[in-house]
Amino acid sequence: MAEPLACSAGKAGPTLSVDAARLRAVAVAAPVAETEILPLDLACGRVLAGPVVAASALPPFDNSAMDGYALRLSDLAGAGPWELPVTRRIAAGDRASGPPDPGTAVRIFTGAPIPAGADAVVMQENVTRSGDRITLTARPRSGQNIRRRGEDLARGAQALAAGVGLTPPRLALLAGCGVPQVAVRRRVRVAILSTGDELAEPGRLLAPGQIYNSNRVMLRATLARLPWAETTDLGILRDDPQAIRAAIRQAALTHDVVISSGGVSAGEADHILDALRAEAAELDVLKVAIRPGKPLTVGRLGGALYFGLPGNPYAAAITFAQIARPALRKVAGLTEAPDAWLPAVAGFTYHRTTGRREYVPVTWASRDTLGRPVLERLGHGASASLSPIACAMGIAVIPPDLSVIHPGQPLQVEVLGE
Ligand code: AMP
Ligand code: MG
Repeated sequence: MAEPLACSAGKAGPTLSVDAARLRAVAVAAPVAETEILPLDLACGRVLAGPVVAASALPPFDNSAMDGYALRLSDLAGAGPWELPVTRRIAAGDRASGPPDPGTAVRIFTGAPIPAGADAVVMQENVTRSGDRITLTARPRSGQNIRRRGEDLARGAQALAAGVGLTPPRLALLAGCGVPQVAVRRRVRVAILSTGDELAEPGRLLAPGQIYNSNRVMLRATLARLPWAETTDLGILRDDPQAIRAAIRQAALTHDVVISSGGVSAGEADHILDALRAEAAELDVLKVAIRPGKPLTVGRLGGALYFGLPGNPYAAAITFAQIARPALRKVAGLTEAPDAWLPAVAGFTYHRTTGRREYVPVTWASRDTLGRPVLERLGHGASASLSPIACAMGIAVIPPDLSVIHPGQPLQVEVLGE
């Protein structure tokens, strides 16, 4: 279990930097303990529960890296050119065979076992062949074009560490060293819910005062891309304290993480905080110096990690990505932190209020002489706006203290994936 946070629900705590808030959220998260065994075919994106060692050496035997001719360097007497008869042929899948007959070369193909005693393979492009004889002019290096047994990974060596996410190349590595299945952590069970009397799902007619629910599909789709998470969608909860309390209590019993959006401001209809307090949540009302994104609630509700994201969609998206997702990754058991930002430069002028780290949707059509994207800013920073983030190629990060950004100002940009 993670350290419980000092209960500060509803109290005005100090304002935290984004990095400090992220560390706090990660500190309250605890990895799921249960594991399951999966065949490699079903394991992409899942998180290794323990280290995996190579069941077989990779490659399992010395083999040829090229189509060509295997020979013994000691058969190349004096200065070249040398002429050798070709007496045997070994293809991929053939068994290993005895040494070349003295003074001969062996026709060999990529992946075929190196005959005992041969110490180089000459590419077929580097010899002249005439009938059953080859002529070569340059002396090969010892070991040339030979892939040695275990040079990629020795048998019994650690192939992958615990806590890594299984990418296609990692699955290929495990397959290559003879591992058919892996122990992975079970998926993180995440419940999502939207709050607000004003919310309606698209497809229905809007009653006066209603807006369509953007956060539900955004969170659901974001989580659907995380192969180590499974989501329960609890839909829209009305601004009714009793209903909210019952729903979050139930969700926390059966999920590792509960994520709500809306209802965490100080307004009278913002019942999430009251409901969490009534359920004796260990709660941190995080006042984060982030734009967009205030306010944000993080804590533990029973055995579950709780995130109360802001209702405004852009703010919900940013706080999820910057604060909640790193904590979710820890719950999943992941030990690697992705680092996907690029150096970029502003192509715009922006006068701003200092004090909060700001996440600005950007696009770019050109790069400067150093290859850095020249960023164009989208939108006006409204936390309810969806068009800018929908069109953005990335999110630029503006440091809290910068009061004006001029063209050429170096900035970090996080590239948005597919
Ligand atoms: P709240 O945090 O509940 O005060 O909501 C802040 C703003 O976000 C209000 O304008 C809400 O109408 C809006 N909002 C809350 N939830 C959603 C949602 N799921 N989709 C779109 N807008 C929302
Ligand atoms: Mg609300």
